[in-house]
Amino acid sequence: MVYQKTKENVLILRLDVGEDIYQSILKVCAQEQISLAKVEGIGAVNDITLGLFDPTTKEYTKNEWKNKNFEIVSLLGNITTLNNEPYLHIHMSVAEKNGTVYGGHLNKAIISATGEIFITILEGKVERYFDENIGLNLLNM
Ligand code: ZN
Repeated sequence: MVYQKTKENVLILRLDVGEDIYQSILKVCAQEQISLAKVEGIGAVNDITLGLFDPTTKEYTKNEWKNKNFEIVSLLGNITTLNNEPYLHIHMSVAEKNGTVYGGHLNKAIISATGEIFITILEGKVERYFDENIGLNLLNM
């Protein structure tokens, strides 16, 4: 991964073959001490895990695809904090060869060609809290 920062506080990341999108963004959060930001990206991946939250059971089910080529149609999310640590919430939709699109909550995505991620750093801070009724870490404000 390499990245540069614009004067508007936007980080432009290039991820390379074999790198994990989620882990790479977490690393940048630590290096740049990011506590609030929005994330958007595109690229190509071939090993992904996407989750789907079930509000009834309050559990995530996971869909995994390995050794399968996808284009990222859209990667979108935010960076906030939980217990003062960076917390990523990112969703991703991907298209396979015939154009079929799958999507979900991003757990893992390994780059197969390149990844182009823009992180817009925002001023301020938004903490999360675990809401027992919902079963998720919600925005606290
Ligand atoms: Zn989610």
